[in-house]
Amino acid sequence: MYIGNHLSTSKGFSAMGKEAVKLGANTFAFFTRNPRGGSAKEIIPKDVEKMLELTKEHQFGRLVAHAPYTMNLCAAKEDVRRFSLEMITDDLLRMEYTPNNYYNFHPGSHVGQGVETGIALIAEALNGVLKPEQSTTVLLETMAGKGSEVGSRFEELRAILDRVELQEKMGVCLDTCHVWDGGYDIVNHLDEVLEEFDRVIGLERLSAIHFNDSMNPCGAHKDRHARIGEGHIGLEGMRRVATHPLLQGKPFILETPNDDAGYQREIALVREWTEG
Ligand code: FE
Ligand code: FE
Ligand code: ZN
Repeated sequence: MYIGNHLSTSKGFSAMGKEAVKLGANTFAFFTRNPRGGSAKEIIPKDVEKMLELTKEHQFGRLVAHAPYTMNLCAAKEDVRRFSLEMITDDLLRMEYTPNNYYNFHPGSHVGQGVETGIALIAEALNGVLKPEQSTTVLLETMAGKGSEVGSRFEELRAILDRVELQEKMGVCLDTCHVWDGGYDIVNHLDEVLEEFDRVIGLERLSAIHFNDSMNPCGAHKDRHARIGEGHIGLEGMRRVATHPLLQGKPFILETPNDDAGYQREIALVREWTEG
């Protein structure tokens, strides 16, 4: 089982590695740059090296980096799209300091242009930035469908993937809160939802799980994460996801509203469910 949480990048890579080990994790997530601005910290190769040694020693799974929220590859404003392209281009270069990991991003919000235009713009952007020599797999995150978000239906993610030339560089990250809010009932119909994912996208594309409970009922399109067992998915619903045979071996990332002690508890809980 690869389980961890989203860590603060402020103290650098080796600090994140140590923090993850301390919390009992064997993977983690981090923002590649300021999530609400876009400025990026300088990468110190020695610091990264220490983190890579530590995560190798503790047999970590692949890490799941997260793009900034300000990145919108299908924005209506051209300057926002250009800024977003600059960010993802730079992020993918930065990711090569920590090779063979995942880079997850929110497909984007079409802001009134329509979902078809959104899909076309996102795919066009990806075709401009993906490189055959990159070691990073880029993940589309399943979204809650808040506002004009693209990617709350599996079909939309499939449509993006279909237009990408370097498909072997692409995957999908399933956020349990988001799919639930998007209307996929993973509490009562988990097998059917995964069957649908397989039929529409293909389970071989499913790379990582964002493991969050939801503060809202199924189909609410709200995107408010809850602690494991404290939301509408509930403890049993979350346990069934974590232990589902089709999801084993993938990194599970907690993005729950927690302090360190809370993350430690949730990591231990998921381990208990899956490792006994
Ligand atoms: Fe996200
Ligand atoms: Fe997420
Ligand atoms: Zn979310």
